[in-house]
Amino acid sequence: MKTQVKLFLKKLVGRKAVVLMYHRIAEPKSNVWDIAVSPAHFEAHLRLLKKLGTVVPLRELAEKARNQQIKGIPIAITFDDGYLDNYAVAKPLLEKYQLPATFFVSTGNIDAQKEFWWDELEELILFSETLPSTADFEFRNERIAIDLTNEKTLTPETFQTHCQWNACLDAPPTQRSKLFFDLWQNLKPLPYPEQQEYLGLIRRWANAPAKVRPDFTSMSIDQVKDLGSSPYFDLGAHTVSHPALAFHSKAFQKQEIQENVQQLQKLTQSKIDLLAYPYGIFNQDTEEVAKELGFKAAFTTEERTVTNQSLPYQMSRYQVANWGKEEFAKKLVQWIY
Ligand SMILES: [Zn+2]
Repeated sequence: MKTQVKLFLKKLVGRKAVVLMYHRIAEPKSNVWDIAVSPAHFEAHLRLLKKLGTVVPLRELAEKARNQQIKGIPIAITFDDGYLDNYAVAKPLLEKYQLPATFFVSTGNIDAQKEFWWDELEELILFSETLPSTADFEFRNERIAIDLTNEKTLTPETFQTHCQWNACLDAPPTQRSKLFFDLWQNLKPLPYPEQQEYLGLIRRWANAPAKVRPDFTSMSIDQVKDLGSSPYFDLGAHTVSHPALAFHSKAFQKQEIQENVQQLQKLTQSKIDLLAYPYGIFNQDTEEVAKELGFKAAFTTEERTVTNQSLPYQMSRYQVANWGKEEFAKKLVQWIY
């Protein structure tokens, strides 16, 4: 296969590493942020990665980059957030192919019947059967007012449109999706209690009961513990409440990361010294905090390869979407060249 030959050649000469970022291995009805990969596609990715034979634990890859010893094309697999499907679906597949992975876990939702705010918002706005005919929400710097008269009732067509919408690539196709996107942008920089307050307000406005979908929850304490004790897997820090760090004070950033590390440290025998910034958002304070807390490396969501020149607290990753085998292989080649 042409692709594999190319990758093999690159392996001989390359000095680049690829860090893959997954979030969910699941098939939810919508995939607005392109973070869900189907189990079948994930298994196809793993099969290809196994064949390439260059998957290494992330800590090894980071260590090599720091010491300017990257050779060939090492690839590492990472997961963000700590969704339940990481344990239930991804773990057994990774074990089947004996491939290492690092799980960056936000501990705020661990062992709790909670969804992440972005999932809850998506369900409320895009999929509520009915909504009021106007939306009017006041934020610190912005007022969001949108007329929903024509989309009060969710039609099968709008439902389908929302199921197929990819907000990373396409502009909002409906008034509801525009409302969702605007709310998402305004909620992202807020601290957790304020996000929850707004979600409560939005839920009351939508007249929707509070509900938690079991497949949108996070892992339990025992599951995180089990992951952390496996020789294949590492745990990494991803804060407690998943704030967009750069929008907050240095003291707040430090507290969020430190508490997360302490909680994870209790569940694993190994040291937590790798960090992934929620949403990939960081500033100089974040890098200083990462250094002060003794992290060996921290990862963004900037899509570049890691090289021997990469800065330890700005290591990049590629988000893997729900691609089939051929498309995934093409992307790998694109990234490496
Ligand atoms: Zn995250």
